[in-house]
Amino acid sequence: MSKQIKVRFAPSPTGPFHIGGARSALFNWLFARKVGGKFVLRIEDTDLERSTRESEENIKKALKWLGMDWDEGIDVGGDNGPYRQTERLDIYNKYTEKLIADGHAYYCYCTDEELEAERQALIADSKMPRYMGKCRDLTSEQIEQYKAEGRKPTVRFRVPADKQIVVNDLVRGDVVFESNGIGDYVIVKSDGIPTYNYAVVIDDSTMEITHVIRAEEHLSNTPRQCLIYDALGFERPIFGHISLILGKDHTKMSKRHGATSVDQYRQLGYLPEGLNNFLALLGWSPSGEQELFTIEELIQEFSMDHVAKNPAVFDVDKLNWINQQYMRKLSAEEFFETAKPHMIEAGYMTGDETGEKLEWLKSVVATAKEHISYGAQIPAAVAMYFSDDFGFENDEAAAVLKEESVPTVMNMLFAELHALEVLDGPAVKATFKKIQKETGLGGKNVFMPIRVALTGNQHGPELAEMIPILGIERSINRIKASLEKSGVSL
Ligand code: GLU
Repeated sequence: MSKQIKVRFAPSPTGPFHIGGARSALFNWLFARKVGGKFVLRIEDTDLERSTRESEENIKKALKWLGMDWDEGIDVGGDNGPYRQTERLDIYNKYTEKLIADGHAYYCYCTDEELEAERQALIADSKMPRYMGKCRDLTSEQIEQYKAEGRKPTVRFRVPADKQIVVNDLVRGDVVFESNGIGDYVIVKSDGIPTYNYAVVIDDSTMEITHVIRAEEHLSNTPRQCLIYDALGFERPIFGHISLILGKDHTKMSKRHGATSVDQYRQLGYLPEGLNNFLALLGWSPSGEQELFTIEELIQEFSMDHVAKNPAVFDVDKLNWINQQYMRKLSAEEFFETAKPHMIEAGYMTGDETGEKLEWLKSVVATAKEHISYGAQIPAAVAMYFSDDFGFENDEAAAVLKEESVPTVMNMLFAELHALEVLDGPAVKATFKKIQKETGLGGKNVFMPIRVALTGNQHGPELAEMIPILGIERSINRIKASLEKSGVSL
C-alpha cells in the first residue's frame, strides 16, 4: 500500500495572519482533501521573542473562519505530537546528539563579535560572507578552554563539500544548489532552541509529511533542509514551492497595497467563501474558464499541476467581484446578519431593535445587496435612509428641478401617494405610469426630478424600492425641502 498522503501548514505565530499564509494553508488543505490525505497544523514558535499565543489563536480562528479543519495538530492532537515546536525540544535534542556523534554536526564557540569580524573580512575581500568552519575540528583542549571562558556553544551542521543538492519541486522542477555556496549553518542556538531549518526537518520527518507545500521564499532554505534529511537517513518529502504574491503594481505585497491580513478582510465584511475562492486562484489556475468555485468544487478541481511558477498578482478588484457574487447569493436573512456589525459600527442600529423598527432596517439593508462587494460598504450604500439632510450632487442635478413641469409632477405625486391604500413597489410604479399618462411627459421627466428631489442625486436605487421604505410623509417632506432649496414653488 502506498504511503498515506500527509501535508502540513506550519505557521510562525509572530504577527497578524497574512493572506499569503492563508493561501499556503488553503493549497495544502485542498490537496489533502482532494486525495483523502491528512492535513496537519503545526506551530513553529522557535522565535521566542516574536511568537505569541495571541497570534496562534488568530491563526486558528482565521483557518476555522475560512472553513479549514485539521486532522492532526495543536488542539486536536494526534500520534506525532506535541505540535508546538517549543514543546518538542527533547525530540530535537535526541537527533542533535546523533548528528554530533555521526560527525554531521559540531559545537561552535564563536562569539557574535568573532562571527561579525569574519563576515566583514570576507565582504572586504569580495567573498560571499559565510561561516568558514573555525570550530569544525576543535581539539578537546580548545573546547575545555572555551568552556572555562563560559562560552555557550551553538550547534552547526557540517556542510559536505562539492555536493550538488537537487531539489525536486512540484512547481519548479529540479532546482540545483551547490553545497560549496553554503557555510556550516547553526541548527541549534546557544540557548538550546533549534533553528527553523533544523526543526522543520525533524518535524516533517517524524510527522510523516509526504508533501511540503509552502511559499517560494523557503526554496532557498530547502537545500539546507535536504542536507539534514540526508545526514539523518530520512526520506525527503516532495516539495512544492508556490509563487510570491505581488501587489497590482508587481511589487511584493505589503501594507501599502491595502489590507494584508485575513482578519482585516473578515472585519471588512468579506465572506469566507469569497476569500477562499480568490485565494485559490492566486497561483492556481483551473483547467476551464470557470472562476467561481464552491469549496467542494475547489477540492474536486485543485491540482498542484496547475500551480504556476510565476508570481500571483493580488488584484483587489477581482476579489471584490468574486465576493460580490457570493454576497448576491446570500439569503435576505444572511445578508442582514453580514450587514449588522457594519450597520452598528456606522451608528445606524444598535442590534437590539425589534418589531417594526427591525423590519424597516431589514428592508433598508436589502436595498444594498446588488450594489456592494463587501460588508463594510453597506452603511454608505444605505446612508440616504438615515439622513434627510442632503445637498445636490452637482449643478446638473440641481437644474433638473427647474424644469417647467416639475411643480405639476410633484403635486400629482403627492396627491396620488396620499390616495394609495397600500404603499409598495408596484403601487409606486403604477403611480408613475398614471402621472406620465395624465401629463403626457416622458418617463425621464417624471423619474429624474423625483429622484433628485428625494436624494440629491441623478443616480441611485430604484424609486419604487425607495419610496415605500422612506414612507409617504418622509418622501414628501424631502421633496418639498429640495424644491425649497432650489427656489421652486408648488
Ligand atoms: N514557519 C514557517 C513560516 O511561517 C513555515 C515554513 C515551512 O512551511 O516550512 O514561514
